[in-house]
Amino acid sequence: MEPGAHIRVLPARVANKIAAGEVVERPASIIKELVENSIDAAASQVDVEITAGGRKLISIRDNGYGMNRDDALLAIERHATSKIRDVDDIERIGTLGFRGEALAAIASVSRFRMTTCDGGPIGTEIVVIGGKIQDVREIGRPAGTTTEVRDIFFNVPARKKFLRSYQTEQTHIRAVFMVQALASPAIGMTLKIDDRHVYELAGGGNLENRVEDLFGADYRKNLKSVNYQSSNVTVTGYISIPAFNRSNREEQYIFVNGRPTSAAVLSFAIREGYHTLLPKDRYPSVFLFIKTDPEQVDVNVHPAKREIRFRHPSEVRDAVITAIRKTLELPADLATGGMEPEKAIISLQPKTIQLKIENLPTTRIFKYPRGGFNPETGRNPMPVRQEETRESNKKVVPPADGAKTDTSPWSSCRVLGQVGSLYVVLETEDGMILMDPHAAHERVLFEQYMSAIVSGKVKTQGLLLPETIEMIPKDALRVRKHVKLLAKLGFGISEFGGDAFVIDAIPACLTNVSAASLLKEVAEALEQAGQRGGEKQYEELIAQAACKSAVKARDKLSLQEIEQLVVDLAGVEMPYTCPHGRPTLIFTSFQELNKKFGRE
Ligand code: ADP
Ligand code: MG
Repeated sequence: MEPGAHIRVLPARVANKIAAGEVVERPASIIKELVENSIDAAASQVDVEITAGGRKLISIRDNGYGMNRDDALLAIERHATSKIRDVDDIERIGTLGFRGEALAAIASVSRFRMTTCDGGPIGTEIVVIGGKIQDVREIGRPAGTTTEVRDIFFNVPARKKFLRSYQTEQTHIRAVFMVQALASPAIGMTLKIDDRHVYELAGGGNLENRVEDLFGADYRKNLKSVNYQSSNVTVTGYISIPAFNRSNREEQYIFVNGRPTSAAVLSFAIREGYHTLLPKDRYPSVFLFIKTDPEQVDVNVHPAKREIRFRHPSEVRDAVITAIRKTLELPADLATGGMEPEKAIISLQPKTIQLKIENLPTTRIFKYPRGGFNPETGRNPMPVRQEETRESNKKVVPPADGAKTDTSPWSSCRVLGQVGSLYVVLETEDGMILMDPHAAHERVLFEQYMSAIVSGKVKTQGLLLPETIEMIPKDALRVRKHVKLLAKLGFGISEFGGDAFVIDAIPACLTNVSAASLLKEVAEALEQAGQRGGEKQYEELIAQAACKSAVKARDKLSLQEIEQLVVDLAGVEMPYTCPHGRPTLIFTSFQELNKKFGRE
């Protein structure tokens, strides 16, 4: 075989197309690259416009320093960059770009037009189609650059197939826009989608202004400002109070030396910072800006520059943990697991109530399964319930699964009070029960709601003032998909254009809850469910989420309400866990207590 008969160097156009596969994943990645270029060009105003989810047109206009004709022609060549000169420069990158690939890659898979001017008397227009330069001419324009990208992947059908619906692409685009807007709060930025102004963000402000503009003033109220400096690392920004958390990391915005980024060590540090303050599956919202010597950061790990590596990860990790702990006013050493368990303060309310079984509105009496709640598995054994009617007192119906039951039925219980200003202490004939009133309440609401859903009789209650709710794009997408189902479940909901919804009624069983938090909780649940599941599952998920947020909205329970809760809980199908599987009741028999005290 001839030497070189098989291996050849790819022509530039082919190489660019291949590179485009890495850099240009979807329309949103183009926006990321082009906005980064505008930021690198010191623009104070960046205007983004898209049509048809970015498939038809992506246009980015900036007022940065622009390019002269020669530079403009070089810019669209592969590995052409003004940002580094030498390998060593990668070690101290101060700009967002440096690979010199983006423009070449984008122009190779689209109809591309760039006009630019460096402030001199004449500007330049370049038209490239599928990587081939079609036209270069002089034009007049103010300093700055406008890049238009049309018909992305028109010449790469295989990739075009992978583009998703307009909606989905739009969602990605909005997410990218938000990240860039947060990265550069001083830059004025606008986003126009299909001729509709979605964002008009004023420049000259700080991060706080930007967060408020993007997420709303109410959102800002849940954030605390972070300001911490260790010997080599500075951490600033905002983090949410622990009570304000989400079911995923989507609202964790992290910037290292100004670059939006992710790194496992940072996620870990955030989690550690909130250690013990959040349940395992909940995440805080964070807007963290980490500054460190550029030489300490390797940014060249990922073609789309999404990930980075730290030379001394532990230094950064410790700084982030300490920054969070300081902000939340926690002792710094909690993260190392040195926490002393808080001493239990038991404050029984002086007045005890007698809750006799006669008071139960239902004739059902359930009994605890042997051994009660099983703390090993975190789950209850299947509840064994005994039906008993007051008329035919003591008539025992054997449990369906035929399991042997040798504990006596719960025939009465006394509410003794609350401990930890939360758990309700109950005394039964056989022992002591600790009840989590929130979990119990969730269970009661959930069963009431579900039985209404199943029987098709969901009652709704109209709101005095319909609420308009602007959601983040991803949540909006999910809610939009399930609008019909939500209507069936008692929500008076309609789309209000963009990512806004109007709610004028909510399910009647969910009192005291704001429509906004209700919808947000529902969106989160839908997102966790992802694509799987049929309508039934979605119904349950929505009901679960709705009940959860209704319970969250409750203030302290009065003694009377606790009493009612016990009565209600005694009447539901599955009293032992909340709809999410957390226990509602922990039972300790007198037998167990006697054993522990050495009386047996
Ligand atoms: P990189 O950003 O990695 O350098 P790009 O392909 O994105 O690579 O851009 C190539 C070069 O074109 C940049 O280094 C920069 O000099 C120039 N350039 C690109 N966009 C702009 C812009 N909006 N304003 C001024 N110069 C730009
Ligand atoms: Mg670039």
